[in-house]
Amino acid sequence: MRISEKLQNHRSKSTKPTFSFEYFVPKTTQGVQNLYDRMDRMYQSTLPQFIDVTWNAGGGVLSQLTTDLVETSQSVLGLETCMHLTCTNMPVSQIDDALESARLSGCQNILALRGDPPVNSDSWQPVEGGFQYAKDLVRYIRDKYGDYFDIGVAGYPEGHPETAGDDETLLDHLKEKVDAGANFIITQMFYDADLFIKWCQRVRAKGVDVPLIPGIMPITTYAAFLRRANWCDVHIPQEYFDRLDPIKDDDQLVREVGTDLIVSLCQKLLDSGYVSHLHIYTMNLEKAPQMILDRMELLPSHDEPLDNHLAILPWRKSL
Ligand code: FAD
Repeated sequence: MRISEKLQNHRSKSTKPTFSFEYFVPKTTQGVQNLYDRMDRMYQSTLPQFIDVTWNAGGGVLSQLTTDLVETSQSVLGLETCMHLTCTNMPVSQIDDALESARLSGCQNILALRGDPPVNSDSWQPVEGGFQYAKDLVRYIRDKYGDYFDIGVAGYPEGHPETAGDDETLLDHLKEKVDAGANFIITQMFYDADLFIKWCQRVRAKGVDVPLIPGIMPITTYAAFLRRANWCDVHIPQEYFDRLDPIKDDDQLVREVGTDLIVSLCQKLLDSGYVSHLHIYTMNLEKAPQMILDRMELLPSHDEPLDNHLAILPWRKSL
């Protein structure tokens, strides 16, 4: 099912915010098996609306694993899945194969991306067929598949390195992606709710009216927290340093306090009225996302309607 329909179904029955999980492709066969087990456990204990699987830009062997993961999570595990797909540094035939494999497995959701340069390269190359930016991939998918797929695109509330300092142009490019046919936006991770809310105001002022889905990065250790914020070049509000720096050597405490900070961030986003769905970057870990959802009281309760639950899906096969 398409994400838009899934979220619409939920909203017709409940005002509770919804959430989803992102997973990345592991590098080993054992890692893949562990990930299937984790996806399954997390699904059964939390009931996300969908999950998504990243794509390694450039289309190496790990991209084939993305299609395998998407196929298994959608058609065997029964999880509503969204496949990330990049469009540069690899042949168009690989884009076609990935889309067809997704379609055949029943996956109806694609996050269309340009992609970062592949590992060991500091530049990306447009491929034959005219894919230079994500909007080209969005248009290609719409032309070829009509409305079969929901198409998401990436948003950058605190900017993108290639349009550094020119947020207006970046917003214009975001609008071009939506005009080409995208119907939801998932953002880069961030920690500053105020900056995100200002960005939402500007996106709406541009006339972009598709759902804005914030990317939420849990805090697991102090080192990982700093590394990820620096990597994505996002602002860290002083409160994060004040609360995390004194306990930085105690991973368990960092996770506890980090969860408090992320819960308060999520609450501000929901209160802003721009957001009703949270997209959690799991980093393939179970505990931190669950702690966030638990404190936000978003985990399923015993009186949850059963129609959403895997346990009653008779066609669900075990691995
Ligand atoms: P685009 O929207 O094409 O934008 C790229 C840059 O080009 C921007 O600076 C934009 O302003 C500029 N631009 C766009 N159109 C034009 C134009 N007409 N003229 C001039 N400049 C233009 N990467 C992966 O490799 N795999 C993943 O699975 C992955 N998942 C991601 C998920 C999310 C939610 C996000 C936020 C990012 C993800 N990325 C992933 C990273 C992403 O590929 C990079 O940030 C990449 O540099 C940009 O991709 P894009 O789709 O945003 O590109």
